Amino acid sequence: MIHDTKIETTKLLFALFVFLLSSVSPATAQETKIKWFGHAAFSITTPNGKVLLIDPWLNNPSNPEAKDGNDPLSAITKIDYILLTHGHRDHAGDAVAIARKTGAALISNPELAGNFVKLSDFPAKQAETDAIMGIGGEIQIADGKVTIAMTPAIHSSSVFNPKAGANEPERAYGGNPAGFVIIIKNGPTIYHSGDTAYFKDMETIGENYSLDVALLNIGGHFGMEPKMAAKAARAVRARLAVPQHYGTFPGIAQNADSFAAELKKMKINFYEMKPGETITYRGKQLIKGK
Ligand SMILES: [Zn+2]
Repeated sequence: MIHDTKIETTKLLFALFVFLLSSVSPATAQETKIKWFGHAAFSITTPNGKVLLIDPWLNNPSNPEAKDGNDPLSAITKIDYILLTHGHRDHAGDAVAIARKTGAALISNPELAGNFVKLSDFPAKQAETDAIMGIGGEIQIADGKVTIAMTPAIHSSSVFNPKAGANEPERAYGGNPAGFVIIIKNGPTIYHSGDTAYFKDMETIGENYSLDVALLNIGGHFGMEPKMAAKAARAVRARLAVPQHYGTFPGIAQNADSFAAELKKMKINFYEMKPGETITYRGKQLIKGK
């Protein structure tokens, strides 16, 4: 009898051990990391270790990894997907070099992808996958663990033609500009607004998706002014608003102060990332940063 109880206790302790182990490891495995490289460039590392890179102009003047003549691409080894909101150089930036280096698949509209291959020597195989999509659509990537929705943006889009000659225009068609909603299983839902102007139909994005964080262009001049970007944060019902596309070059807002002030009036959470900073989500909970 006593002997049996001992066995039962051992079994129980073992079960408890297994339970603790299983409840600890998924928690660490469910971290999503969002890194800002300055301007509109972000990487997202999913709980399954897939790496998405959005608008990778890593050689932008705000990126601390590009300072003092350093090559910001030297630390880039694993990228699974490159997402381009549109073709302008301050967004498409280093996409070709990174694609060549990492074998990453392109996620963009078909016109941008086509001209990028034709004019900029983007690797064709990586630009002709199921990940080429259109506004209003959704695709599954990363073994079905990430859903990407392409959302409207009011802006322009073109592909710079390095082979342009006297009779060939310097800019080729880049399809429609876009934004992205990135829904990560066991992680946050993230909105990247691209270079859009404010438009009232942004409310549709808020109706369709439950956004944990919105990465909003606030620099003005070429897109939303800070005040309108705050209206956008409200329209998309962002739980947290993070500013981007500012302070990089003359002509756009140099800081996020007025954006923060507007959000405060609207009682919307705000977090200002520093270029080079990474924030971490555990599930849908922000655990580093604010
Ligand atoms: Zn831009």
